[in-house]
Amino acid sequence: MGLDRSEVAKLLGLAASLDQRTVGVADVFAWQAALEGVTFGECEAAIIAHAKAAREPVRPADILVAVRDHRRRRAERTAIPHRPTDRATAAAAAKHGMADVYAEMGWTYNAQRAAAMTVPCPLVGCWAPVGRPCRKYGNRYQDMHHERHTKAATKGVRR
Ligand SMILES: [Zn+2]
Repeated sequence: MGLDRSEVAKLLGLAASLDQRTVGVADVFAWQAALEGVTFGECEAAIIAHAKAAREPVRPADILVAVRDHRRRRAERTAIPHRPTDRATAAAAAKHGMADVYAEMGWTYNAQRAAAMTVPCPLVGCWAPVGRPCRKYGNRYQDMHHERHTKAATKGVRR
């Protein structure tokens, strides 16, 4: 999968409008060669995200890293619910810690989620205990409640 030259030219045009670079034909060829295995939409999103977060002009490596990270996060979000839960396996693995639970269940390890699991959820009505995921409460459920992530992060700082 590769981008065609008109797509690459559009991406360079976007980058140029954000960082005032000058763009030549050689840039189009170089970017086309570098941007392998990514879609136009992914590149466009990565360029805009880069412009919001960094002062340096965006380079193909920035785009490739951003796309790879985005794909990994998306895979982590979708990987968890697709596997049926084997309670006995999960319970046995829970004795070893969350990293092992994820390994045992074939889930993608997510450090932030695992950290949140080490504290009980402080959200009124959820109060999920240590080692258990958050409960759906109203329409505020997002896998782990935001308050719990905050609590886990604060606990880490105090340690
Ligand atoms: Zn919760």
